[in-house]
Amino acid sequence: MTYRIAVLPGDYAGPEVTAEAVKVLRTLQEVSSLRFDLQEGLIGGAAVDATGDPLPAATLQLCQASDAVLLGAVGGPRWDGLPAAQRPEQGLLRLRRALDLYANLRPAKVYEPLVAASTLRPEVVRGIDLLVVRELVGGIYYGEPRGIERLAEGERAINTMVYTTAEIRRVAHLAFTLARQRRHKVTSVDKANVLEVSVLWRREVTEVAGAFPDVTLEHLYVDNCAMQLVRDPRQFDVILTGNLFGDILSDEAAMLTGSIGMLPSASLGGKTGLFEPVHGSAPDIAGRGVVNPLAAIASVAMLLAYGLQEVAAAQAVEAAVARVLEEGYRTPDIMAPGCTPVSTAEMGDHVCAALRQGLATA
Ligand code: NAD
Repeated sequence: MTYRIAVLPGDYAGPEVTAEAVKVLRTLQEVSSLRFDLQEGLIGGAAVDATGDPLPAATLQLCQASDAVLLGAVGGPRWDGLPAAQRPEQGLLRLRRALDLYANLRPAKVYEPLVAASTLRPEVVRGIDLLVVRELVGGIYYGEPRGIERLAEGERAINTMVYTTAEIRRVAHLAFTLARQRRHKVTSVDKANVLEVSVLWRREVTEVAGAFPDVTLEHLYVDNCAMQLVRDPRQFDVILTGNLFGDILSDEAAMLTGSIGMLPSASLGGKTGLFEPVHGSAPDIAGRGVVNPLAAIASVAMLLAYGLQEVAAAQAVEAAVARVLEEGYRTPDIMAPGCTPVSTAEMGDHVCAALRQGLATA
């Protein structure tokens, strides 16, 4: 079976980190029975320059016909002056909508050699391994009515938080399914003491949980969850929440781990998932070989696990990343005393070498 992967490098540091992620896929192909048909497409500023559209029809078709999409990052100062519809970020938003990606997955995992990179004490962060599942296409970011209207005196601004039973159930079902592949615990986060939307959220999540008797469900109010994430983050396995709370909590959880250069993400929903680093195009450091490619490489691990259900290959990639960190190789963002500085490409090479070695001895 050959998997078709759409590769969208994007802008500034996007192509640099994507090149290393692709190296990892090619290495996997060399040393395992997996086969990948990698097809590149234009998105973001690169697509604006070439076609005037941040998501050309050819790119959308390529993605829709693929088993998974691997993306670098889009945007940067070069396109900041463009009208809103032509901005690079619009390409990504349109792609997420077209692929019906209703769930955003952001893992926060602390690698033992990077424990000191967190701003929290080592005994609090050691061993963190949690996954935030955020509903991505509903809630207050999309609810109607919305807007700013004039009053006789001053103005009034309105946003509407709205969720339907179907929207809650599909993302809850995904979160429970993912928990089954992990430590069998879901923490659903809401504000059910104040918001009717959250009352429905809590009721529907509890109903969905009935079909997953092997997964433990707990409910937390969002303010308590924000506290618990810094007090005792190891208590969490899967955190399930809506769009607004998820936006905030996933950034909080991510920062427990230290560098933004380490954080992957997945967006799931329709037939084809999208896998990308959490970071942007890092225009301030792009093109100098100093960008950390591990977030993009960890996104490949998510692509294998959640996009292709190739869990063993995903684990091999994760193990290779862990090994390289244990061996002390560091890009500048995660540099520590006594470690070996490496460039973006060298980091990719070390991961590929560790992957070859890991699979040879497996
Ligand atoms: P950014 O994530 O690009 O950079 C924030 C800081 O983190 C910078 O100092 C950068 O040097 C550093 N950084 C980011 N990735 C790194 C890596 N892999 N290794 C080491 N350091 C890294 O965020 P920003 O500066 O706010 O945005 C830059 C551009 O990226 C903007 O145009 C923004 O719209 C876009 N953006 C795109 C995405 C995406 O494509 N999904 C996400 C966020 C921002």
